[in-house]
Amino acid sequence: MMTKECKKETAPKIKRKTLSVKARKKGFSPVEYGLLKEEAIKEAEHCLGLRECESCEICSLLCPDLCITRDEKTGEVLIDLDYCKGCGICASVCPKGAIEMALEEGK
Ligand code: SF4
Ligand code: SF4
Repeated sequence: MMTKECKKETAPKIKRKTLSVKARKKGFSPVEYGLLKEEAIKEAEHCLGLRECESCEICSLLCPDLCITRDEKTGEVLIDLDYCKGCGICASVCPKGAIEMALEEGK
Protein backbone atom coordinates (compact mmCIF):
# COMPACT_ATOMS: atom_id res chain seq x y z
CA MET A 1 0.00 0.00 0.00
CA MET A 2 1.28 3.47 -0.80
CA THR A 3 2.09 5.45 2.29
CA LYS A 4 2.79 8.80 0.74
CA GLU A 5 1.95 10.94 -2.23
CA CYS A 6 3.53 9.77 -5.49
CA LYS A 7 5.52 12.77 -6.57
CA LYS A 8 8.97 12.61 -8.02
CA GLU A 9 11.67 13.89 -5.69
CA THR A 10 15.32 13.95 -6.67
CA ALA A 11 18.22 14.06 -4.27
CA PRO A 12 20.97 16.58 -5.02
CA LYS A 13 23.89 15.21 -7.01
CA ILE A 14 27.16 14.79 -5.08
CA LYS A 15 29.90 17.11 -6.36
CA ARG A 16 33.19 15.24 -6.64
CA LYS A 17 36.48 16.80 -5.53
CA THR A 18 39.07 17.16 -8.27
CA LEU A 19 42.81 17.76 -8.43
CA SER A 20 43.85 21.35 -9.07
CA VAL A 21 45.15 22.21 -12.56
CA LYS A 22 48.56 22.97 -11.09
CA ALA A 23 48.76 19.55 -9.40
CA ARG A 24 47.62 17.81 -12.59
CA LYS A 25 50.64 19.16 -14.47
CA LYS A 26 53.03 17.60 -11.97
CA GLY A 27 52.16 13.95 -12.44
CA PHE A 28 49.72 11.26 -13.39
CA SER A 29 47.52 11.17 -10.30
CA PRO A 30 43.81 10.63 -10.90
CA VAL A 31 42.10 13.94 -11.63
CA GLU A 32 38.82 13.06 -9.91
CA TYR A 33 38.74 11.74 -6.35
CA GLY A 34 36.48 8.86 -5.34
CA LEU A 35 33.51 9.14 -3.00
CA LEU A 36 33.43 8.51 0.72
CA LYS A 37 31.14 5.64 1.78
CA GLU A 38 28.33 8.00 2.87
CA GLU A 39 28.62 9.99 -0.38
CA ALA A 40 28.53 6.77 -2.45
CA ILE A 41 25.33 5.67 -0.69
CA LYS A 42 23.69 9.06 -1.32
CA GLU A 43 24.77 8.97 -4.97
CA ALA A 44 23.33 5.46 -5.41
CA GLU A 45 20.03 6.63 -3.89
CA HIS A 46 20.07 9.58 -6.29
CA CYS A 47 20.51 7.27 -9.29
CA LEU A 48 18.12 4.52 -8.29
CA GLY A 49 15.42 6.54 -6.56
CA LEU A 50 14.90 3.53 -4.34
CA ARG A 51 11.43 2.72 -3.08
CA GLU A 52 9.80 5.88 -4.36
CA CYS A 53 6.65 5.42 -6.39
CA GLU A 54 6.81 7.38 -9.63
CA SER A 55 3.17 6.91 -10.55
CA CYS A 56 4.00 4.86 -13.64
CA GLU A 57 0.75 2.91 -13.04
CA ILE A 58 2.15 -0.44 -14.17
CA CYS A 59 0.71 -1.94 -10.98
CA SER A 60 -2.78 -0.66 -11.74
CA LEU A 61 -2.61 -2.03 -15.30
CA LEU A 62 -1.76 -5.52 -14.07
CA CYS A 63 -3.92 -5.75 -10.96
CA PRO A 64 -6.48 -8.51 -11.71
CA ASP A 65 -8.99 -7.01 -9.28
CA LEU A 66 -8.77 -3.44 -10.62
CA CYS A 67 -8.33 -2.14 -7.10
CA ILE A 68 -5.41 0.23 -7.75
CA THR A 69 -6.41 3.74 -8.72
CA ARG A 70 -4.78 7.12 -8.95
CA ASP A 71 -6.01 10.21 -7.17
CA GLU A 72 -6.26 12.82 -9.92
CA LYS A 73 -5.71 15.72 -7.50
CA THR A 74 -2.67 14.46 -5.58
CA GLY A 75 -1.22 11.94 -8.03
CA GLU A 76 -1.17 9.39 -5.23
CA VAL A 77 -1.61 5.76 -6.27
CA LEU A 78 -4.01 4.01 -3.91
CA ILE A 79 -4.85 0.37 -3.26
CA ASP A 80 -8.37 -0.45 -2.15
CA LEU A 81 -7.65 -3.18 0.37
CA ASP A 82 -11.32 -4.17 0.56
CA TYR A 83 -10.98 -5.61 -2.96
CA CYS A 84 -7.30 -6.64 -2.96
CA LYS A 85 -6.93 -10.45 -2.86
CA GLY A 86 -3.25 -10.27 -1.98
CA CYS A 87 -1.88 -11.95 -5.11
CA GLY A 88 1.30 -9.85 -4.98
CA ILE A 89 1.43 -9.11 -8.72
CA CYS A 90 1.65 -5.36 -8.10
CA ALA A 91 4.62 -5.78 -5.75
CA SER A 92 6.44 -8.07 -8.16
CA VAL A 93 6.04 -5.79 -11.20
CA CYS A 94 6.75 -2.45 -9.49
CA PRO A 95 10.08 -1.25 -10.90
CA LYS A 96 10.69 0.91 -7.84
CA GLY A 97 10.03 -1.69 -5.16
CA ALA A 98 7.51 0.72 -3.67
CA ILE A 99 4.91 -1.89 -2.73
CA GLU A 100 5.47 -4.13 0.23
CA MET A 101 3.29 -7.15 0.92
CA ALA A 102 2.36 -7.86 4.53
CA LEU A 103 0.17 -10.47 6.18
CA GLU A 104 -3.09 -9.17 7.56
CA GLU A 105 -3.44 -9.54 11.31
CA GLY A 106 -5.48 -12.59 12.36
CA LYS A 107 -5.01 -14.44 9.03
S1 SF4 B 1 4.24 0.14 -10.32
FE1 SF4 B 1 5.31 0.98 -8.51
S2 SF4 B 1 6.13 2.95 -9.21
FE2 SF4 B 1 4.54 2.35 -10.67
S3 SF4 B 1 2.66 3.32 -9.89
FE3 SF4 B 1 2.72 1.25 -9.05
S4 SF4 B 1 3.71 1.51 -7.04
FE4 SF4 B 1 4.17 3.36 -8.21
S1 SF4 C 1 -1.95 -7.75 -4.43
FE1 SF4 C 1 -2.96 -8.36 -6.36
S2 SF4 C 1 -5.10 -7.81 -6.05
FE2 SF4 C 1 -3.94 -6.72 -4.48
S3 SF4 C 1 -3.51 -4.70 -5.36
FE3 SF4 C 1 -1.76 -6.03 -5.85
S4 SF4 C 1 -2.21 -6.88 -7.87
FE4 SF4 C 1 -4.14 -6.04 -7.06
